[in-house]
Amino acid sequence: MKIDNPTPVHVVVDMLYDFIDGSLACLNANEAVINSVKFINDNPMRVAYVCDRHPDNHCSFSDKGGVWPPHCVAGTRGGTIHELYSTGVNDESSSPSDKNVFLKGENPSQEQYSGFEGIRIDGKTLFEFIGEAGKESSPEVYVSGIATEFCINETVKDLVKAGYKVVLITDALGYVSREGHLETLKKLEGNNVTLL
Ligand SMILES: [Zn+2]
Repeated sequence: MKIDNPTPVHVVVDMLYDFIDGSLACLNANEAVINSVKFINDNPMRVAYVCDRHPDNHCSFSDKGGVWPPHCVAGTRGGTIHELYSTGVNDESSSPSDKNVFLKGENPSQEQYSGFEGIRIDGKTLFEFIGEAGKESSPEVYVSGIATEFCINETVKDLVKAGYKVVLITDALGYVSREGHLETLKKLEGNNVTLL
């Protein structure tokens, strides 16, 4: 889809192979990737990528007492951004690079669903990258990614709390269950999030 007034940032959350076809494969993930990339090409604006990235002893893993199977371990295919963001994006500067990738979950003893405090390789946070929040002139933030019920939900809640106007690209979301997805969208809409 094409929006009338492209605005500054599109945050792409966890479009990583483990969430698409790997150990935590989500529903609608492939369609979400295609629609998210289409949105990037149709709406030129800055793009930021949030990536779950864990050491192999992360506390969220079931063999370490957590609730998830091992996923998005640093250096594995499962923790890599889907290749369509490199091969299918027209403007090269919108593809993942050291300038726009923000990592979360690197501390073995800390679960981190929200990408809001994701850190770039040079130490800059996603919040700093997006810029001014809470003012009339604050940039709008568009969000696509996986999974609606977890990392999307927490990232969007933090963005709203910071004062950004947030728009969710609903056909570019992957989810654990359809019911959970719809329920989360309804709650976020009630929390001033626009559903596109
Ligand atoms: Zn994780």
